[in-house]
Amino acid sequence: AQAQLLQSAKLAAVGELSASVAHEINNPLYAARNSLYLVEQDLPPDAPQRTFLTIAQQELSRIARIITRMRDFYRPSRGELTNANINALLRETLELVTTHLRHSHVTVHTQLAPDLPPIVAHADQLRQVFLNIILNACDAMPGGGELTVRSELIASRPEEPMTLAVSISDTGVGIDPEHIPHLFEPFYTTKPHGTGLGLAISAHIITQHGGRILVDSQPGVGTTFTILLPLEPPPTAVAQGQ
Ligand code: ADP
Repeated sequence: AQAQLLQSAKLAAVGELSASVAHEINNPLYAARNSLYLVEQDLPPDAPQRTFLTIAQQELSRIARIITRMRDFYRPSRGELTNANINALLRETLELVTTHLRHSHVTVHTQLAPDLPPIVAHADQLRQVFLNIILNACDAMPGGGELTVRSELIASRPEEPMTLAVSISDTGVGIDPEHIPHLFEPFYTTKPHGTGLGLAISAHIITQHGGRILVDSQPGVGTTFTILLPLEPPPTAVAQGQ
């Protein structure tokens, strides 16, 4: 619980900082990218400096991506709380990445429970979470593999309310046990061009919906992310509109 509190505090700090800084960074960033573009236009195609130019451009793009993600996330939620159909959201998300998955030689299996009740949620935000986790699964299978998306209704104990469980499994590289505690920390990434914000943002969204994300991974075998969501979010989540 303490770790979770610290995590929330850290995210809140990132949020406050990003709101004021994103705007300040955008203008100089644009000027720098534009200048490099102009330099590029004047270089002969075989100029050896192109290598360095490309690195500079890639790194500036990375800064731009981080800024956009932080700004989008901390902007007050646009979407209303709606009765969301989780299976439809999962299908829409998969649809969005069909081409990407096919190019990556990833085969998709879906096991979506029929007749799931709708859940009260911010549909846009949940789509974002599913997208983050599916793209991570894809990244974890550089040579291709199997992606399995499941949804089901579970009751952990007879007297407890029903919970919706979405699990997204890959047959990828897996996660070293030592990395697991850090996965949801902002900026924690093992990818050369990662932002380390995907899971931090996803965990924040799911917590706001009164749910939890669980990870189960075996290096060399694969990883399953399970998202548990109550059918109704707690009133605080509604009030905060996140
Ligand atoms: P990013 O994708 O930008 O690195 P994330 O917060 O989404 O940021 O992920 C953090 C890290 O968690 C990744 O860099 C990777 O090391 C690890 N990770 C996430 N999902 C998976 C997965 N399905 N398989 C293996 N590692 C994963």
